[in-house]
Amino acid sequence: MTAPVVELRGVTKAYAGGVTALRDADLRIERGECVAIVGPSGSGKSTLLNIVGTLDRPSSGEVRVAGTEVSALRDREVAALRATTIGFVFQQFHVAPGRSALDNVADGLLYAGVRRRARRSRAADALARVGLGHRAGHRPHELSGGERQRVAIARAIVGEPALLLADEPTGNLDSASGRAVQDVLEELHRAGTTVVVITHNAELAADLPRRIAVRDGRVSA
Ligand code: ADP
Repeated sequence: MTAPVVELRGVTKAYAGGVTALRDADLRIERGECVAIVGPSGSGKSTLLNIVGTLDRPSSGEVRVAGTEVSALRDREVAALRATTIGFVFQQFHVAPGRSALDNVADGLLYAGVRRRARRSRAADALARVGLGHRAGHRPHELSGGERQRVAIARAIVGEPALLLADEPTGNLDSASGRAVQDVLEELHRAGTTVVVITHNAELAADLPRRIAVRDGRVSA
């Protein structure tokens, strides 16, 4: 049996200053799931995503990603686990200005020990998967916001991570572009990627097969 992609047990996160952003959270996400994380602003969603994404460590509790207990690892080992296992997409499309869509996506493999030619060929495949094969030579300022976000998604998936984490990926987009980004996420899910999306977009949340609600730091899965 394969390990769940994400397993949290009794995870609490207290920030300096006294805010407890997550309280005793349990969560299990199986390989191939597609999950929306929903809840009001300030409820702890980003904290949850940062801990699941190994960008932050919990104050207490256990975090396993793809079967590996994260708290047992040194920072360098956590970074390696993250680089090989997790792709990130954020609300602000993180793409480098002045570099083509293809180069932006290929850069996602810079630290994976993949040669330049293979990086570019895999980047072209990833761009095709998000429907941007015909925009590979365009630079970010020549793309719409929705297209830029799809470049960011292509970059996140070019290394074929077990888990794709997206924090409000449609938050800065008009509804048509948001819809296109949603279609891409759903297509990746159909092709087998495990997708976890924080969203305030009710339409997106309603369309996904599972919703996890966060409220006052409590996670109800
Ligand atoms: P959401 O993503 O649902 O809006 P967050 O996880 O960002 O919620 O925040 C949860 C709570 O933790 C909020 O009260 C927020 O102010 C607090 N918080 C988030 N990040 C930090 C931080 N780095 N330091 C202190 N408090 C924080």
